[in-house]
Amino acid sequence: MLVVEDLVVRYGRSPALRGVSFTVNEGEIVTIIGPNGAGKSTALKSIVGLVAPASGRIDFAGRSVVGLRTEALLRQGLSLVPEGRHIFTSLTVAENLRIGATARRDRRAARQDIADMLERFPALQRRVSSPAGKLSGGEQQQLAIARALIARPRMLMLDEPSLGLAPLIVEQIFDIIRELRAEGTTVLLVEQNAAKAVALADRAYVLQSGSVVIHGAASEILSST
Ligand code: ADP
Ligand code: ADP
Repeated sequence: MLVVEDLVVRYGRSPALRGVSFTVNEGEIVTIIGPNGAGKSTALKSIVGLVAPASGRIDFAGRSVVGLRTEALLRQGLSLVPEGRHIFTSLTVAENLRIGATARRDRRAARQDIADMLERFPALQRRVSSPAGKLSGGEQQQLAIARALIARPRMLMLDEPSLGLAPLIVEQIFDIIRELRAEGTTVLLVEQNAAKAVALADRAYVLQSGSVVIHGAASEILSST
């Protein structure tokens, strides 16, 4: 479904990705793990057009997505939950979801999408009129995921969803990711929390200093580390 081949990204002259290749098949959870600064975020940012690759190929569902803007990517079925959540803290939960729903032009359909999403995330339903900034970290992460899901992506990408969350809350977030896979959403998960991410994933890629150093079935990676 996603094919990234020989991707090179430079910030100025220093390479952040030195010819990285990976694939995500339909229905899989694939994780990219590796130390801070390895290039994990850069890989995701290249896919969603936040950084321009120097060279390489990024195809989603058989078509190049290099240079596409957010709206076009959403239409193709690609949605990102960015690192640090990036929700609007002074807007309410419902208002944050409405922003996610603007990809759909029809207002009634958008309202229905919001209602469906609130039903799916009871913690958000309970706080629907609260400013997002008043939610706990785990609730904010759920809101960021819900906002990305409202566009009904075929593939959801998550950048470090466990960052700053207590272990029990991380479990809740990972349970949500498991449910997504069960529903047929393909997932690309970038994580520093390698053990947890690999336990969840079908396949894993280990990035180090801008290169893929290990990749394989998650079970193999678990037994080799
Ligand atoms: P990770 O997500 O694995 O922590 P990043 O993709 O954020 O890694 O960063 C990869 C490398 O690129 C790091 O050395 C980082 O300092 C550098 N980098 C990231 N963003 C920029 C930027 N905007 N300008 C210059 N260097 C950057
Ligand atoms: P995030 O992934 O949450 O957006 P980053 O850590 O990647 O945050 O970067 C924060 C900001 O600093 C971004 O604008 C990024 O492009 C920039 N940045 C990151 N690393 C470097 C770096 N080594 N040199 C210059 N700018 C950087």
